Amino acid sequence: MAHIEIRKENYHHNLAYLSQRAGGMHKIMAVLKDNAYGHGLEIMAGLACDFGVRRAAVKTFQEALRIQGLFEEVLILADHPHTKPLPQGVSMGIHELEALEKCHPNSDIHINIDTGMHRNGIAISQIKDSLRISKKNSLHVKGVYAHFRSADELSGEWFWQKSRFEACKEIIHETIKDLDLPMPKFHSCNSAGLLRNSTHITDDYARVGIASYGYTHMPKVFGKHDLRPVMALYAKRLSSRDLYENERIGYAGVYKASKKMKVSTYDIGYGDGFFRYDGFGSLILNNKEVLGRVSMDSMSIASGEDEICLFEDAHYLADHFNTITYDVITKLSSDLPRVVV
Ligand SMILES: *Cc1c(COP(=O)(O)O)cnc(C)c1O
Repeated sequence: MAHIEIRKENYHHNLAYLSQRAGGMHKIMAVLKDNAYGHGLEIMAGLACDFGVRRAAVKTFQEALRIQGLFEEVLILADHPHTKPLPQGVSMGIHELEALEKCHPNSDIHINIDTGMHRNGIAISQIKDSLRISKKNSLHVKGVYAHFRSADELSGEWFWQKSRFEACKEIIHETIKDLDLPMPKFHSCNSAGLLRNSTHITDDYARVGIASYGYTHMPKVFGKHDLRPVMALYAKRLSSRDLYENERIGYAGVYKASKKMKVSTYDIGYGDGFFRYDGFGSLILNNKEVLGRVSMDSMSIASGEDEICLFEDAHYLADHFNTITYDVITKLSSDLPRVVV
């Protein structure tokens, strides 16, 4: 069966590199949303925990429940306000003031501030209100955060968003004193934000996703980073045959053999979250040519090997399909077995 290999050494190498950049392991929140970017939630949570990571972030409440015991804190980044009590160690990202009226009393929350991305988060002008309402509703503000819209772009945008967050911190420091509340933790950097800092971050921690899995999408002028892809995708041969000159293969017969050749069909297709390559142009995976259209459950390749590696670095596929590595790796079906090596 097709499977995903998880290279544990590479993951730990990346975490070591990122924690050294941030200023220590305590400054890393491992982002494990979307099935740990396709790597497998429980597996990656276990590997992060073994390495000493104490904080994780996921997308949903359901994901948080699956890994909650492994970390001091699991932050839910993008779910609806949870109206029932949250389990110990699970906290909820708050994206608008109204959410503060919906959360169950005594919940741990992190207030997301919109510092310029305009996707989620309360306005800077609502910071004081958000803390007042949190206190009134007995919500524990464990963290305050923001998200960069352009940290991986060659522009100065990152700088003004960063300075806005610093200004937010000052407002919070004052308000916290007035309301006699404990100091929350501050976090704003994703992978690119962290890697753009040439010194240790001034926030309490960074939320690192893609870089921990071995990728960045930053222009070269921002420097080269020693990151190693964690995932490799393998497929197994289902059957082989000879294709004769002028015979065509697969749906719509897009590929035509120019001479007799040996071809095999492998057990992965777009139903498993691989791309539906349409067969036009040329797609070469690890020196082997994909022949014609990718089907739902299989694809044909110019090879006779029993098992082939389709990629161990998602950049080639991302570039080929005009997308980003995030997109290639998160879409791989959670049904594909993950094997840690
Ligand atoms: C996904 C996500 C991250 C991680 O981003 P990377 O670019 O993968 O490091 C950080 N913060 C928030 C709010 C996110 O949604």
